[in-house]
Amino acid sequence: MKIDEKEIIRQKEIMDKVKTKNPAGLLCKIVTLGCQQNESDSEKLAGMLTKMGYGFTEDSENASLILFNTCAVRENAEKKLFGKIGALKLLKEKNPDLLIGVCGCLPQQKVMEEKFKKSYKFVDIVFGTHSLYRFPEILYKAISDHKAVRDIADIEGEVSEGIPTLRSNGIKAYVSIMYGCNNFCSYCVVPYVRGRERSRDYRDILQEINELSKSGYKEVMLLGQNVNSYSGGLDFANLLKKVSDIEDIERIRFMTSHPKDLSDEVIDIMAERENICNQLHLPVQSGSDRMLEKMNRRYDIEHYMGIVNKLKSKIPDVALSTDIIVGFPGETMEDFEKTMELLKKVRYDTIYSFIYSRRYGTPAYDMPDVMSEEDKHKNFERMLELQNSISLEKNKALVGTVQTVLVEGLSKTNKLMQSGRNEGGKLVHFKGTNDLVGKFVSVKITEVNTWTLTGELI
Ligand code: SF4
Repeated sequence: MKIDEKEIIRQKEIMDKVKTKNPAGLLCKIVTLGCQQNESDSEKLAGMLTKMGYGFTEDSENASLILFNTCAVRENAEKKLFGKIGALKLLKEKNPDLLIGVCGCLPQQKVMEEKFKKSYKFVDIVFGTHSLYRFPEILYKAISDHKAVRDIADIEGEVSEGIPTLRSNGIKAYVSIMYGCNNFCSYCVVPYVRGRERSRDYRDILQEINELSKSGYKEVMLLGQNVNSYSGGLDFANLLKKVSDIEDIERIRFMTSHPKDLSDEVIDIMAERENICNQLHLPVQSGSDRMLEKMNRRYDIEHYMGIVNKLKSKIPDVALSTDIIVGFPGETMEDFEKTMELLKKVRYDTIYSFIYSRRYGTPAYDMPDVMSEEDKHKNFERMLELQNSISLEKNKALVGTVQTVLVEGLSKTNKLMQSGRNEGGKLVHFKGTNDLVGKFVSVKITEVNTWTLTGELI
């Protein structure tokens, strides 16, 4: 269901009220954790905050509002986050006017309610993913009533249009096409914290991308937990075609694709259309059918390899990445070796691999382990070693080639170099001037390491 337009207008009126209440020059620090969906949500938070008169800072000491947009996918990240929030208690004592907020997936979990009430009373604002559009009202209450506001809507989820957005750069943009997930993989909290799948109307998506194109954006990343099951008036293949027809959008990427839903039509369109990047993130999670069944992934390795082979035959230079869970409950050495075999067969460009982290409320939480923590860590290291060697070999094969790079600005690690990404999404460094930012350039690759390419502008 779409949030009523009147409600969005009401929130915009509240933004004006916050602006008149706030002294000029207030700064907010937004800390974004987790996936691209959270980054996209933070751009909306920043858009609303700008309308409410806030500027932005990285420095907690200078901030009037510190907002954590959180992720609930892994336990370690959660521990780190609570460490960071706890460390702000002292700052709050020194500066009682400081507002601290926590939003996103973490507070959306039922189990967190008590934790915030009991141990983090000094946190002023707590709201979940379903309340994002109500942020102005929540902030207004916290400022006016001087007491904590908790707003965790217990709903399946809705779609909201028209929320102001402050994008992090003017070159490439995240565009959410759908929210939530219906898949209930046994390890994952997403369906519980982001609700059931709902798609934006394709006309709203196309309008947003048309506006981005007119504002000079060159690249869009279509976002959803499972973009292949998009159903906002078109299927995903046809949405892709329409986005690809928009003038001046020269690169289109999308994520995440679920292997059970990726259609041949999507692969064909990727192969046909110049502006759809030859890059795909296709999470496999394990190379063992036994594990895939326990994970409730609803495909087997034969099906997965069928897709990989189709992709490679139709798009020979396709850059593939994946997610892998090491040490899922019940994983044996035999299962793990199957995942290693899969890495050797597919030869991904990149993998995002994690040791399994139990998440309360998911079916896998209570599943018994058969492998020691020590063995899981050893396996994890072995896997990284293997993948690093594959990534390096694949990058070495690019030495001497000319890559088209969309320039994003000075490299974060070497301020003498510009950086950008090639079509496959690989980071490329080269010497160049600032006026190249936002342009496509040709770079001849001269050196590589496991994660980046370096070259000369030609
Ligand atoms: S597809 Fe599975 S892993 Fe991905 S968000 Fe949905 S439940 Fe989580």
